[in-house]
Amino acid sequence: MTVSEQCPHGHIIRSSNDRLSTGYCRECQRQQNRRYRQKQRAAMDLVKALEAEGLIWDDQVPISQIVASLVSSRIAESSSNRL
Ligand SMILES: [Zn+2]
Repeated sequence: MTVSEQCPHGHIIRSSNDRLSTGYCRECQRQQNRRYRQKQRAAMDLVKALEAEGLIWDDQVPISQIVASLVSSRIAESSSNRL
């Protein structure tokens, strides 16, 4: 059976190569990675801006960890939309 499928976002799934082992659309995954990097950059900018204002949460927490938690909180939100 070679019926061309589409993911919920309209990407054509031609073969199993267009899906990840999780069944998730490869193109969606690519877009999600791109959004993730954009969010990561936005989160980093936010943290740096706050830092420049002298608003640092806690010196014991590395900035990379603050950025990661900002990003992952948004990812958890968007991953609930998948399929
Ligand atoms: Zn897709």
